[in-house]
Amino acid sequence: MLFHQEGLGAATEHGFAFGPCVVAPTSRGQVGLRSPRPDAAPRIVHNYLTTEEDRDCIVAGIRIALEIAEQRAVADIATGRFGDTPASGSDADLLDWAKRSGQTLFHPTSSCAIGRVVDPELRVLDIAGLRVVDASVLPAVPRGNTNAPTVMAAEKAADLIKGIHRVAGAGR
Ligand SMILES: Cc1cc2nc3c(=O)[nH]c(=O)nc-3n(C[C@H](O)[C@H](O)[C@H](O)COP(=O)(O)OP(=O)(O)OC[C@H]3O[C@@H](n4cnc5c(N)ncnc54)[C@H](O)[C@@H]3O)c2cc1C
Repeated sequence: MLFHQEGLGAATEHGFAFGPCVVAPTSRGQVGLRSPRPDAAPRIVHNYLTTEEDRDCIVAGIRIALEIAEQRAVADIATGRFGDTPASGSDADLLDWAKRSGQTLFHPTSSCAIGRVVDPELRVLDIAGLRVVDASVLPAVPRGNTNAPTVMAAEKAADLIKGIHRVAGAGR
């Protein structure tokens, strides 16, 4: 099926999509406070594709996708490109397109990472009585989907809060 508008838009045509992803990004964003008011929206700066490694990675991924699309088995059934596509196969146009049309895949994590903002028991460093338990504590964005690791962290946090220290493999 077509995957466009971050998967939230209804497909208007039959089709297929490729999804090259930078699954281990080296670019780093930031979440900060905009004001002392607790109800103020935070300032979120993603900084996507700010490292050469990430830019090279996405350009290589898009190039592979285009090469697959040009193979006869695919090209024979394709009627054309859908929507906004790279202007050409040059590195500059592929990168320009990635910057313009790239999507998050809804997997932001790690703004309160273990080791930087919270300790391994998810307690905020230097603030007594406060833990963070959500996707933001993951030390790095996982290569796969983020829901299961977030649930795993939450299960572990529930044990820590209740004072249960499980030993790996015990009780099997
Ligand atoms: C459209 C979309 C599709 C996704 N698809 C997948 C998928 O297929 N597979 C996958 O693994 N992951 C997927 N994800 C990612 C996954 O949903 C998230 O990584 C995960 O939910 C993060 O969990 P969390 O607990 O950190 O945050 P959330 O699940 O966002 O939970 C935050 C909670 O806090 C509540 N909240 C916010 N503000 C306040 C407040 N002031 N007071 C009280 N409560 C508040 C919110 O209502 C919400 O319930 C998707 C995400 C999106 C947005």
